[in-house]
Amino acid sequence: MSSPRLPLIAAPPPAPRHPGSKERHAVARLPEDWREYLAELGEPAFRGDQIFRWIHQHGVFDFEQMTNVSRPLRARLAELGKNCPLEELSAQRSTDGTRKLLFRLHDGLAIECVLIPQGNADDEDEDDEEQKQWGDLPDRPMTLCVSSQVGCAMGCVFCASGQAGLKRGLGAHEIVTQVSLARRHLDPGERIRNLVFMGMGEPLHHYAETARAIRLLTHPLGAGMSPRRITVSTVGLISGIRKLGEDFGGKVGLAVSLHAPDSETRSTIIPMNNHQPLDELMTALRAYPLPKRRRITIEYTLIDGINDTILHARRLVETLRGLPSKVNLIPMNPIKAVSLRAPRPDAVEAFRRELSRLRVSCSVRQTRGDDVDAACGQLALASS
Ligand code: SAH
Repeated sequence: MSSPRLPLIAAPPPAPRHPGSKERHAVARLPEDWREYLAELGEPAFRGDQIFRWIHQHGVFDFEQMTNVSRPLRARLAELGKNCPLEELSAQRSTDGTRKLLFRLHDGLAIECVLIPQGNADDEDEDDEEQKQWGDLPDRPMTLCVSSQVGCAMGCVFCASGQAGLKRGLGAHEIVTQVSLARRHLDPGERIRNLVFMGMGEPLHHYAETARAIRLLTHPLGAGMSPRRITVSTVGLISGIRKLGEDFGGKVGLAVSLHAPDSETRSTIIPMNNHQPLDELMTALRAYPLPKRRRITIEYTLIDGINDTILHARRLVETLRGLPSKVNLIPMNPIKAVSLRAPRPDAVEAFRRELSRLRVSCSVRQTRGDDVDAACGQLALASS
């Protein structure tokens, strides 16, 4: 099969402007922002912690329901307007238990997030010290996959979001509210154990909002998630990878969509690769301050005739040499816009076997929720 014809893309547009704490949405405020804000209203600082708890620990957005906050303050806060930034439009449930949720944003655009029962293949625990953040019952763990942008500017040829183009980045409040609202869809005995930025969008394209969302989700007065249970998946934006490593000391999990072992192959499917040399990306990955026993996940979408030969597998082993990593093979899910497709199952298996033979840790990702178009790369701009 010949290489697909690719549209030439310019460098991605600049990341959106970030608001100061006063103009920041109430749901995106950290306790320290609340304290600063309330001081100006002549209110005691501890009220900030109370409000933060209501929103981020209890998922209560309506100020009127924050019963330990004084009535006059509640009334004043209510003037800020509707506090929940997302409105649920639909929830679809796949036969495998995956739930796809569709939300409308204040400007009418739509985003999706996906709640996935945790399978065994992708859930390799190197570090299980953190267990209790979402309740300490021995319950069924779920992974929540959140969106970080409406559409995406990276243009990867096999991805529905990339083909749709970028509408805008999400604010931290819009990212974390996906988690709060998804929790309402848990069955008894289920809990969100892992959070992955693998929905629509490139989370490191507007780094500041992604980083703030992580700070909100990991704050002990809020949901108190462990950063180790959060994974940011990126096409490989080098400056963002460096900042994430610095700001969170390497504790936040990193997944990189490599999809090819060499720059030439990578450029045919990931236009972004033309703007950043692959060897610089690999250098940035080697410099990521991973804690001991942790590894970077290398995502590799297998596409028939593009990146799926034994030679590609061998080159991949070379490219990854010396990097603590595990490879996650994803047979490409079909998308409407292009005729690219997954290799035959025996080719996928041969690729996996070659990596294993060369002692590279790898798994093949199970397809989840494809009957509701919730599988990787199928999250499109359904209703915007
Ligand atoms: N921008 C981030 C998150 C994207 S979605 C990133 O690039 O990592 C998460 C994963 O799904 C990425 O590895 C992405 O390349 C992959 N993906 C996208 N479309 C796909 C498709 N049609 N089939 C299989 N995997 C796909």
